[in-house]
Amino acid sequence: MQTTFTAEQLADPHVAESEKILRKCVHCGFCTATCPTYVTLGNELDSPRGRIYLIKDMLENGRPADKQVVTHIDRCLSCLSCMTTCPSGVNYMHLVDHARVHIEKTYRRPFADRMIRSVLAAVLPYPGRFRAALVLAKVGKPFAKLFEATPLKPVAAMLRLAPGSVPRRSRNSSPSLHKAAGERKKRVALLTGCAQPVLDPGINDATISLLTRLGVEVVVPRGEGCCGALVHHMGREEQALASARQNVDAWTREIEKGGLDAIVITASGCGTTIKDYGFMLRLDPTYADKAARVSALARDVTEFLATLDLPEPAEKPALAVAYHSACSMQHGQKITRQPKDLLAKAGFTVREPREGHLCCGSAGTYNIMQPEISARLRDRKVKNLEATGAAVVATGNIGCITQIASAANMPVVHTVQLLDWAYGGKRPAGLGSLVQ
Ligand code: SF4
Ligand code: SF4
Repeated sequence: MQTTFTAEQLADPHVAESEKILRKCVHCGFCTATCPTYVTLGNELDSPRGRIYLIKDMLENGRPADKQVVTHIDRCLSCLSCMTTCPSGVNYMHLVDHARVHIEKTYRRPFADRMIRSVLAAVLPYPGRFRAALVLAKVGKPFAKLFEATPLKPVAAMLRLAPGSVPRRSRNSSPSLHKAAGERKKRVALLTGCAQPVLDPGINDATISLLTRLGVEVVVPRGEGCCGALVHHMGREEQALASARQNVDAWTREIEKGGLDAIVITASGCGTTIKDYGFMLRLDPTYADKAARVSALARDVTEFLATLDLPEPAEKPALAVAYHSACSMQHGQKITRQPKDLLAKAGFTVREPREGHLCCGSAGTYNIMQPEISARLRDRKVKNLEATGAAVVATGNIGCITQIASAANMPVVHTVQLLDWAYGGKRPAGLGSLVQ
């Protein structure tokens, strides 16, 4: 794609980066066929190619964002399916991230939108606040309908998504050291995360239980917090970079203290962002190298487990599992084989749903901010998952677990919970009465 940025515009390193990305796009439109919003809405402006044109036009003309651009960029799930499909290597992720920052800086959203976004950014990344909000949401659930046809309809979506009960906090969510059983083979830091330990503390518990039994020392470092992905996708650059710096500091201290073989992440949405810290902080001379080192150590828990010598499972659970690959797993991190191989090796029968490349509609805060499109994608995903005839869904991202579980007639658990169970750990509570 030809561009006409001026030398002055290109002096801004963010614009220069976006220009490089834009020039790679050859307008072929292959990406439209695999874009969930194009598939759902059928509008070219809701396809990757359409959005790329809108972004190009906005940046090239140095214009503030307008309502049209904001509408179509807000509808983008950042699922990155387009990046998997694109034959030209267009880095849509960095382009849309830049566009979102530009929107945040130049566009004044309606009051209700601003308020909801501010509340989400002030609550979700902080486990204590998020827990308190979920307790409140439980009380507000019966009133969800009142917000439905108002500018506050994301509040209705939020109330609907809130779980009926909030699980008890796990001690593993606090800074702690978990020694390897027997000889220590590896040492890793675990990102406990922000929303995940509140919604399902059993995921990190299962990870620690499984890894330590396999001879891995697990440290939950003091000072780590939210990865920053939630605010990053809202274009709140400074808040996202502050989270990234805080985590880089926490993990750098651990690297220097005891060495780390990996930084293990159990939510693939967080993994995609942490693997991008090196890029996000590339212009910060104090953090660029440290952030690149952290990104190089980041591993999804299944990616890390696949590097270990796993024994035969304690007891092979005869259970058919529909594997849902989160977008951040398959498109963001290109991890496709490991989770399925691990589940199969552990004795599960793995089934893959149709349209596995399409997003479930969760996408961070998307299911709150874009409830209609999100619900259509969720229902399509659930139908495909249920059609596999499997007894349970496994996936590697808490957002997908919450989203799919809100409509599926089958339990939805994290892949690592099934693996921990198969290798002698606790049966996942999320299986309910499915198997004893
Ligand atoms: S990130 Fe997903 S929703 Fe956004 S343009 Fe790409 S394929 Fe479409
Ligand atoms: S597939 Fe790649 S090159 Fe083709 S239109 Fe989409 S982003 Fe551009």
